[in-house]
Parts: sequence; structure tokens; C-alpha cells
Amino acid sequence: MQFCPKCGKDTDVLFENVCRECFLKTHELIDCPLVIHIKTCPTCGSFFRKGKWAFSNDETKNVLDSVRDEISIDKKAKNVEIFLTPNKLDKSIYRVGIGVTAEINGIAITEETGLEVRVGKEACDACSRIAGGYFEGIVQVRAENRLPTKEELTRSENIARELAGRYQDKGDRLSFISRTVELDEGIDIYVSSTKLGKQVCNAVIEVFGGKFSESPSLIGQKDGVEIYRVTFSLRLPEFVRGDIVSVNDTVIKVQNFGKHLRGIDLETGKKITEPADRIGKIIKVGSVNDAVSSVLVADEGDTVQVLDPETYESITIRKPEFLDVKAGNDINVVKTEKGIFILP
Ligand SMILES: [Zn+2]
Ligand SMILES: [Zn+2]
Repeated sequence: MQFCPKCGKDTDVLFENVCRECFLKTHELIDCPLVIHIKTCPTCGSFFRKGKWAFSNDETKNVLDSVRDEISIDKKAKNVEIFLTPNKLDKSIYRVGIGVTAEINGIAITEETGLEVRVGKEACDACSRIAGGYFEGIVQVRAENRLPTKEELTRSENIARELAGRYQDKGDRLSFISRTVELDEGIDIYVSSTKLGKQVCNAVIEVFGGKFSESPSLIGQKDGVEIYRVTFSLRLPEFVRGDIVSVNDTVIKVQNFGKHLRGIDLETGKKITEPADRIGKIIKVGSVNDAVSSVLVADEGDTVQVLDPETYESITIRKPEFLDVKAGNDINVVKTEKGIFILP
């Protein structure tokens, strides 16, 4: 039989040289503050945690996470289990009960405490930037030698908004479209970051073709770092899907005109892909919108006879590869200065 040097009681086992009761008295299992303050954004519901804002729509989870961040448990404790019980007292105050079970030096210990969480409102970094109209770049969507179509402008704006949204979903909270300005000659899309600006250009070009250039301008300094704003000059191609163009003596229905001209040679029906910078002069001779209905009069193997939609004369043209209509049936044709062509 031994005795505890601290309280003098008899005891079988000593823990760190004192009895069980004295040992437990000297060990605080849980250490946490009485009150913690956390911040949430009234606009988007984001929470500020561990030095940064993050999207969240689960306030209780954020309260509990913040509590977990603040609890420290005795380092010697093993098999620690923490139980948190949130209790919303009013709109912005929670009382969170904390229960901890653990073992220290083989002694099972249970401890209970609690703390108050006060949820304050503050505009997050993204919402304050959005509210302030912040932007780092302007994507100017224009078209080469023509005005952009309504579809191109609407689509470009949608592409920009979808991209910004996708980056937000991935956690890039500062990615957003600040505003858009419609002009006679196109649309200006104000983007929150130059990275987003470049991505918008690439995504629009992916759809419509075209090219862009960047010109940065110094707008000031922040903390010794020079701040640039970048103007992205995006040029949609002069020719768009559905245009019928002639290049030398080839008449092509345009599929896409970007870095390459892709389309169909309407005379042969063959697909065509040519690097845009190696094509000579391109002239628009029509559009699929000019298509009219006609009749395939005869199929003669390599050639076919079609009815001229204006004169109703039967004319002979080469049979394009894509044609799978039998004589006597309707076909769509376009009449251009380069002749009559069957459309695929
Ligand atoms: Zn003792
Ligand atoms: Zn916010």
C-alpha cells in the first residue's frame, strides 16, 4: 500500500506520483474559450474560417467547425471523442455543448463544458468586390468587318457567366462577371480577373472561332505591386457557320472559321480544313439562309440535274458526295454568282 504525497490518501496505484483523484484534478482535458466570434456574409452566406472566406449554406456546420477549431485537448489524451451539441439561442447566438471522452495514462476521463458562438455579419471579399464593381479585365467582343450577331453576343455573355460560375463552384470565389455593356459594335464584358478574361476569350473562340489579343495598362500600385488592367480585344471571324464563301474557284459552306476554315466543298461534297492564314481571298457569295427548295430531276452517276429555282430550267451539275436523295425528290439549293449548289 502506498499513499498519495499530495493529499495523503492511501492508494494502490500512483499516476505521475499522485493518486487518481489528484491526477484528474491537475488535468484539464478540454481547453476552450468561453465565447467565440465568427463571421458570415449576409449576401452570399459564406463563412470566414481559418483566415479565409468559403462558400457554405450550412450555418450549423460552420458553427460546429469553428468550435472544433477552438477546442484543444490535453496532448496526453488518447482515444479522444468529441461530442458537440448546438443550441441556437437567437438569430446570431449559439450555445454549443462540448463533451469529451478520452484516456490519459489508461484512466478513462469524461469532461463536459460549453461555449457561446456569436455569428457576426460582414460582407465577404467576393461580395464586397462585386458590390464595388471590381474588375481586372475587359473582354471586348467584336466581329471582323461586320457587326456581331445577336446570337453571338448573347452566347458570349452566357459563356462568360457560365465560366465564372464554374470557377466559383470549384472554389475560386473571386471569379465573377462584374458587368456587361452592350454597344452598337459588340459587347464589353468586365471580368474580375485577367485569368478569367483569357478563359472567356478561349471559350468564345472555341465556339465561334476568331482570335484575341491582350493589352495591359498600368492602373496603379498596391503594396508595392503594380496593378494592371487588361483589355482583351476579341475578334469574331468575318465568316460564320452557314455562310457560303468562295475561295479561288471553290465554293464552301462554312462550318467553322477560327484558326482553320472548316466546311464542305459544295461542288464535290468533300470536307475541307484549311489553316486560316494560308487561305487566299475569301468572298461571301451566299448563306444557307438563302436556300430554296428545288427538285432533283435526274441522277446520272457523276452528275445530277436540278431545277433552277428561278428559271425552272434543268441544269447539270456535279453530284456532291453527300447527296443521298433519289431523282424526283425535293432538295435544298442555293443560287449564287458561282452557280447553283445543292446543300447537304
Ligand atoms: Zn491524492
Ligand atoms: Zn459574400
